[in-house]
Order: sequence, then structure tokens, then C-alpha cells
Amino acid sequence: MPAPSLADQDIRCSFCSKPKTAVAKVIAGAGVYICNECVGLCAEILAAQSIEAPEIPYTESMTDEQILEFLPRIAEVGAQVEDNLKVWVQRARDRGVTWARIGAALGMTRQSAWGRFSGEE
Ligand SMILES: [Zn+2]
Repeated sequence: MPAPSLADQDIRCSFCSKPKTAVAKVIAGAGVYICNECVGLCAEILAAQSIEAPEIPYTESMTDEQILEFLPRIAEVGAQVEDNLKVWVQRARDRGVTWARIGAALGMTRQSAWGRFSGEE
């Protein structure tokens, strides 16, 4: 099975969740993405020492609704990372890398790697 193209994925910024179609550029990392807008915000924060970096907003003061609204964003990033991992595993398989080596790289058994990524039953 040829590796699915990363272009086929619904790529979203891992920081703000915007789809790549809603921003000018998306830069890829190891299973994650960041958009030009988030890079710009990060550059502003780094350049201006006085601007406090936004933190992940978990505090005791968050409402249940705020936590519940945050959950799907985290799940989306997790799903995107998993999809990206499958693409890279398939690329390794297309090169003839064994399930044993892939499993070892991921800290799992050959059988676990095969079961998780082969798409076979
Ligand atoms: Zn972003």
C-alpha cells in the first residue's frame, strides 16, 4: 500500500487549530504543524520581553465549559499526529523496513507495530 500523501490530510495548525486553507502558510514539524499567524505571535512574544506568553489556560478558575471546549482541540491535534505517524510508518514500510525495526523505533513489539499500523486484521 503506498503511503497516503500528507497533502491528503486535513492539516491544521497544532496551536490554533485553523485549517491550512485558512492561513497563508503552515510549517510542518515532527507530526505537528504551526501556521504563519502563530509563528508571528511567537515572534512578537519573543521580541517583546514585556508581553507575557499565553499559557495553556488550565487553572482552578476554568469553568467546566472552558475545559470541555478545550478537549476537542487537543483530540484534533492527537488525531493529526496519529495520521502523520501512519504516513511515516508506511514510508518506512515502502522502503522495506521490517515491522520489528519499526516497533523497536517506537518502543513496541513487532506485533504491536503491525497491529497498529498495517491495516490488516
Ligand atoms: Zn496557528
